[in-house]
Formats: sequence, C-alpha cells, structure tokens
Amino acid sequence: MTDPVIPHQSDRAIRPAIGLGLRGRCPACGKGRIFDHFLKVAPACAHCGQRLDVHQADDFPAYIVILLLGHIMLPLMIEVNAVLAIPLGWQAALWPALAAILAVALIQPVKGGVIAFQWSRRMAGFR
Ligand SMILES: [Zn+2]
Repeated sequence: MTDPVIPHQSDRAIRPAIGLGLRGRCPACGKGRIFDHFLKVAPACAHCGQRLDVHQADDFPAYIVILLLGHIMLPLMIEVNAVLAIPLGWQAALWPALAAILAVALIQPVKGGVIAFQWSRRMAGFR
C-alpha cells in the first residue's frame, strides 16, 4: 500500500519559490517580475502568464518587516550605545531614520516572499 500523494505538497517546491519571491521574480517560471511598481503586484507574469493578482498577502509582509526590524534594531542600538557615546539628540534622528530605510528596503522582498509562499502552497487563489 502506498502513501497518498498530496499534490500541493509535491509539485511546487517551497524553498526555490520563496527565493525567487524574495528577488521579486515570478515563483512559477523565475523569469517574469512579481511587481509592476514598488509594491503593486502585476496582474500576471509577463513571461509565463501565471496570475499573480490572486495573492492575499494583506498586512502579513508588514508584520514580518516589523518583526525583522525589532530583531535588527534593538541589538544594534544596545551594541552601539555600549561602545559609542552618541548624544541623545543624534540618536533621536538616527534610529528612526535607519528603521525607515530598513523598512523600505525590506518590504518588497518580504512581500514577494509571502506571495511566492502562497503560490507554492496553492493558498489564496493560486490553484
Ligand atoms: Zn512566470
């Protein structure tokens, strides 16, 4: 007797898909782009035609970015303050600016990764 094959767990490898999504590439073919603009998802892949507008990433990428920023910023602030004596006025400008720059840098790759994850698990409208 053979084990039942669950199609959605065998035909779309999760790691390569997320890797492509993090780079903003279509998780189905790896050639087309996920995004038309900064965070605007393309209706479909220009290369293979995979529909991309069926994703339901919603606020999840933002939650992931907030979690990542907390794990990056807090140890960095503690270490910098342990080594350097930066005036508080400078720190009041430095840390929020660094957080904003990191958030902008991380949000698109994270959203691409979330969309690729949904594609690989056939979640949302990815059948
Ligand atoms: Zn594609």
